[in-house]
Amino acid sequence: MGRSMKVIAPFDPWNDPLCTCPPKYTLSPYTSCGHRCAYCYITSYIPGGFRPRPKRNFVKRLLSDLRRIKSDIVISMANSSDPYTPPEGRLGLTRRALEIMIPRGLRIQLMTKSSLVVRDLDLIRKGNVMVSFTITTLDRVKAFKLEPGAPEPEKRLKAMEVLSSSGVPCAIRIDPLLPGINTDENMLRALIKRAAEAGALHVISSTYKARPDSLRRIAFAFPDLKDAYLEAYRVEGEKVKRCVWYLKRRIRERLLRMVRDLALEEGLSFAVCREGMPYLNTARTCDGTHLIPSRVKVMDLNTSTWKVVNRG
Ligand code: SF4
Repeated sequence: MGRSMKVIAPFDPWNDPLCTCPPKYTLSPYTSCGHRCAYCYITSYIPGGFRPRPKRNFVKRLLSDLRRIKSDIVISMANSSDPYTPPEGRLGLTRRALEIMIPRGLRIQLMTKSSLVVRDLDLIRKGNVMVSFTITTLDRVKAFKLEPGAPEPEKRLKAMEVLSSSGVPCAIRIDPLLPGINTDENMLRALIKRAAEAGALHVISSTYKARPDSLRRIAFAFPDLKDAYLEAYRVEGEKVKRCVWYLKRRIRERLLRMVRDLALEEGLSFAVCREGMPYLNTARTCDGTHLIPSRVKVMDLNTSTWKVVNRG
């Protein structure tokens, strides 16, 4: 993991001691993201707002980085920009990255809110890839307020269905949980049931972590909740670092236990993300990377044929 890496970097969410992810790299073909989620944290550190743009010389830099990384460590796409953010439909940088990485047998996690991922099924199904779909609610109106630039929830679930029925392991991220918006037990039960029907194997969940800019967007989208959110986060919540507030631990644990029980009811494994409650997890990894197929498929670059190589 040298300094000279350019587009692939060790995943390191601000050295957050609450992160329990196994070691992995992060790779984003784009800077910023066009899904414009109300709760998104990237606007607090990426200048230019929700204006996704391709990274310059992305493919050249990717090829250079791939010579330096450890090939058995998962590459996660992406953590500060959806790999299927709107310009991807036109520019195809994520597809290009998959075309390069999959034949090398690399282990890949795709995290998305977009049904566009289905476009790349021909590649994904051949590789060591798992896909994690973030779906926060089945309610189209709320989803539009929360994630105005992303495809509606049912489209994401249909995409999950297509992928999982083709043998691609999928997880659902119910992240973030926003009290009073998507935390009704019956709503969550319906969401998890639908995700299980669509082939999800694992549920990852986390409560909303407030930052000043995302809190303003949530208050704008849900004006009736503005005062309650200010009270729950800025007055009664836990300030975990400069300009980041969590809900009180007891409230977070109650919400996460509810999601956990609903996931287990459907036979899905469960884990929390950055909550400091690893005892709630029922899977080997929190982020679902244990679902990545364990065999390595390598393309013979001379004959362009696939061969399966067992690691063990
Ligand atoms: S998809 Fe992710 S990176 Fe993109 S705006 Fe939404 S939360 Fe931010």
